[in-house]
Amino acid sequence: MTPSDIAAIIALYNQRRRMKCGARTRKGTPCKMWPEPGKRRCRLHGGLSTGPKTTEGIERIRAAQKRRGAKHHEEHDRGH
Ligand SMILES: [Zn+2]
Repeated sequence: MTPSDIAAIIALYNQRRRMKCGARTRKGTPCKMWPEPGKRRCRLHGGLSTGPKTTEGIERIRAAQKRRGAKHHEEHDRGH
């Protein structure tokens, strides 16, 4: 058994153990999507952030993206 086999088994086990989203859909049936990692609801039912609502939040996200993007652009531009 290789480490990747073990990882696959653990992933399967975790997936089975996890609860599905279960939120009520528009049809009135329970949502069958898996929740976002670390969340209890899928991306359609509040698992994902719906985005910043305040200017303070927007600025904070922008600053974070700028910081993360700087390295990416640096690496990307080298190819041009
Ligand atoms: Zn859902």
